[in-house]
Amino acid sequence: MPESFKTTCCYCGVGCGVIVHKDSNGMLVAEGDKGHPVNKGMLCSKGMNLHYTVMDKSDRLLYPEMRYHKQMPRKRVSWDTALERAARVFASIIERYGPESVAFYASGQCLTEEYYIVNKLVKGFIGCNNIDTNSRLCMSSAVAAYKMSLGEDSVPICYDDIEQTDLIFVAGANPAWCHPIVWRRVEAAKAANPDLKIIVSDPRKTQTCSLADVHLQIRPGTDITLHHALARILIENGDIDMDYINHHTEGFLPLAKKVMERTVHEAAIICDVPPEDIYQAASLIAHSKGLLTMWTMGLNQSVRGVDKNLSLINLNLITGRIGRPGCGPFSLTGQPNAMGGREVGGLANILPAHRLLSNEQDRLYVQQFWGGKPIGEAPGLTATQMFDAMEQGSLKAIWIMGTNPLVSLPDVRKAEAALAKAAFVVVQEVSNKPETLQYADLILPAAAWAEKEGTMTNAERRITYLSRITEAPGEARPDAEILCDFATRMGFAGFEFKNSEEIFLEHCRLTEGTNMDIGGLNYAILKEKRSVQWPYPKEPLLQNMPRLFADGRFYTKSGKAIINDPNDENESEPLSEDLPLILTTGRIRDQWHTMTKTGKVNKLKQHIARSFLEIHPEDAFERAISEDELIEVTGVRGTVRVKAKLTSDIKKGVVFLPMHWGKMQGSDLNRANNITNALLDKVSKQPDFKYAAVQVRKY
Ligand code: SF4
Repeated sequence: MPESFKTTCCYCGVGCGVIVHKDSNGMLVAEGDKGHPVNKGMLCSKGMNLHYTVMDKSDRLLYPEMRYHKQMPRKRVSWDTALERAARVFASIIERYGPESVAFYASGQCLTEEYYIVNKLVKGFIGCNNIDTNSRLCMSSAVAAYKMSLGEDSVPICYDDIEQTDLIFVAGANPAWCHPIVWRRVEAAKAANPDLKIIVSDPRKTQTCSLADVHLQIRPGTDITLHHALARILIENGDIDMDYINHHTEGFLPLAKKVMERTVHEAAIICDVPPEDIYQAASLIAHSKGLLTMWTMGLNQSVRGVDKNLSLINLNLITGRIGRPGCGPFSLTGQPNAMGGREVGGLANILPAHRLLSNEQDRLYVQQFWGGKPIGEAPGLTATQMFDAMEQGSLKAIWIMGTNPLVSLPDVRKAEAALAKAAFVVVQEVSNKPETLQYADLILPAAAWAEKEGTMTNAERRITYLSRITEAPGEARPDAEILCDFATRMGFAGFEFKNSEEIFLEHCRLTEGTNMDIGGLNYAILKEKRSVQWPYPKEPLLQNMPRLFADGRFYTKSGKAIINDPNDENESEPLSEDLPLILTTGRIRDQWHTMTKTGKVNKLKQHIARSFLEIHPEDAFERAISEDELIEVTGVRGTVRVKAKLTSDIKKGVVFLPMHWGKMQGSDLNRANNITNALLDKVSKQPDFKYAAVQVRKY
């Protein structure tokens, strides 16, 4: 009998509802869920092809493999042998070098339940805070900025604000390609309401710009200057909400002083855009009622990522455009469950339910709830710091689950060398393709999307249930089950969950009394309602909160939002005569991250089949480079060799490489992160992926 299952797309943070139909032969077909409030039946090209990635098992890891020595080949072993050895090795390394000598590196693709278990295991029982995820490379600057301005990591808007606003400012993002269903909703809103205006700031003229009323094609690294210039014009013209500022914010005067340090004309020179375009953007803000500020990696992946976020959020605060329909900061989450991961505390510097490592009471509460070891105050190693510590020899063992750092980390050759030095590497993975596998002492096959049940939270705080639809191949097991088995073999109590709902319910209990209380949730409610936004406490009257801060009270100590006044210096790698171009990196429309899933689908390769370098025709002409010619991009850290794509859609002086390709697509010379910079934002520890000094030559 054919069956249908409701689930959620496992790619981006939009969180589209999917219905998967399964026929009597086990064949699957995915379609958009018309009843889901996020996508109302729509899916983008990646979502429409989800079933192919599940049904194609040709690349799947089927059983555990292990080697006793780096020089020995890995051999198939039983789960018992694999996890007993893992427990023995981790215990002995911890005994000899201390708990700080081990780390777990997880993924924004993990289900909330998986995130919860790995966080509990590391912070509660192993006794260190060395659990971080690839969300560090993605949203950590937004997390820090929300905390510094709104008092907590809380996205205040809901997607329905798209239809209720009359102004959207997209800063450093290309949602038309990277968050397509959000953008389809923007397109539909604009078609229905021609008064809806759109501002885009981006060094590239992307598909998103085709809808823009103003495109500010800024020089990379100048976002703070632009945001301050807009704030200056609004303040000078009195187009701010002084009543809101006085009653609901702190820090306005230092910002007002800061933004007067540069004239708009100076800002225009620094940003390399016409001053009249900045004035036009400011005028759109001044004359609109709403303001949705949308951003993603263009701001986050920067050595000044947090300050770029803060200077953008300031525009919402000084105009009082937050907490009401059509208004507010709207961070476009990169990964499907980066939000869920943050909620369970799955980063090296946070605790469950947005509690703080730095708060003694929070640490004590979580420790007592788990019944584990005392939790240390100091943040653990973040994503890139783990690889630095391996390089230096202080980190001996690493457990990598559901992520492919040897394509996705900046300065990736350094990460490769570091991984080769680790004493013990566990890779828990779905696919047999990732580059990390060659360094693994132990490979653990994991169940993929649709082969396990659980929950995810999307970019508007919406929690959705994902069904188990099909069997995992071979001996592959769900990630949470593997981790619980390992924890029990380590002798830790508190991991005897019978199913994933028991894990979810423990997570819900731990949120009770916090600002993201979901104590009233369980799988039955999620299945019945399809999805809910948090908070969702037991008290029914407090369960429906589409947007936060509607009462003007924020999660700060004073209850007021904090207006920050960052300086606008760009601290990225300086350009030079030898390296005069700025390299920026990003996604293409039909591929996801390091292509382990989307790379298997022929239809998705038809859009763009191979890596390329976008270069302005004048920069190409100066170098005698023609369209489709093989070129070499060189920076301090490495080289990439791909074909040139000449386009005046990219700013002169800037070149662009897609981030997806790696060794598994044939050559490590198409890997953008050979060149990118591991400089970190001081607060968020997010790397500066969007700015590296390079030269381009014919090859
Ligand atoms: Fe999946 Fe994102 Fe596309 Fe929706 S927009 S179908 S969540 S990849």
